[in-house]
Amino acid sequence: MLPNKFQQTDQGIRRDDFEIIWARNSKEFFFSNTFLIHGKKGLIIDPSANFTYIQKIAAHREIPRVLNSHFHTDHRALNHFFSYAQFLCHHLDAPAISSITKCLEYVDNDPHSPYSRWVRDFSRMMNIQDHYIDFSLKDGDIITAGNIDLKVFHTPGHTPGHIALLVIPFKILITFDIDLTPYGPWYANTVSSIDDFLASIERLKSIRADFYITSHGERLYDPETFYRKLERFERYFFDRDTTILEFLGQNPASLADLNASGIIYKHKLLQDPLKAYFGIKMLAKHLDRLIKINKIQKDDKDLYHIL
Ligand SMILES: [Zn+2]
Repeated sequence: MLPNKFQQTDQGIRRDDFEIIWARNSKEFFFSNTFLIHGKKGLIIDPSANFTYIQKIAAHREIPRVLNSHFHTDHRALNHFFSYAQFLCHHLDAPAISSITKCLEYVDNDPHSPYSRWVRDFSRMMNIQDHYIDFSLKDGDIITAGNIDLKVFHTPGHTPGHIALLVIPFKILITFDIDLTPYGPWYANTVSSIDDFLASIERLKSIRADFYITSHGERLYDPETFYRKLERFERYFFDRDTTILEFLGQNPASLADLNASGIIYKHKLLQDPLKAYFGIKMLAKHLDRLIKINKIQKDDKDLYHIL
């Protein structure tokens, strides 16, 4: 079922004043869904869904404002079509959108890692540019575009300045990269935080909407499906902790041993060096947390032991 007056199009769904453009290639996570609001002080959110279609929009009309839900390059791959516009994002991700150097610092503390290399290559390939942020957002802000009000919810964890947006008149909550994918949550950046991510998921449970939508996946969720999938998504964090503790209960192990056992990504996916690296980065965050709450410790050979 679609919200009031929305219709299917070749690119996504739309009504006169609000359009959702589904991401091409979303399984590769190179692109993400785009939201476009027409009218006075119009707004494009995460211009990255579809190169040809968004290029066509940019060629035919002026969109005065661009909002990025967070700093990740797959959400701002086509910002450069609107480089004349004013840019908005949460203030904590603003430095990484304003500067590629800062972006790379947020991404990974090792500039030679496969991930840092991938971000540099992707940025070059997609012509991702630095954009000065004209309006820094914070939790509770209301953005008006055309006749539509959007409410900002700060939902950090995936990145420090990740937001969700409630499209007030249609009761649609856009949760961006709290994306409910079957791979589970992603928190491999240096600036990602498991505790913040969990708090953000908890917060989303209290925001009432009639429809829910993420950045990756071509569908609107009804509330019941959304809560079910959100809980499954949240469980990944706890299940990963449990599996680590069970694994270390057998034998002390290194970070590489734990990663190779398929706790974050299963064996087939680990053949992709980027996924294997994400696995290491996310596992390291679990291990740090488990050390902090005295469940495990690390010895001088970098092996983890259960306490
Ligand atoms: Zn992201």
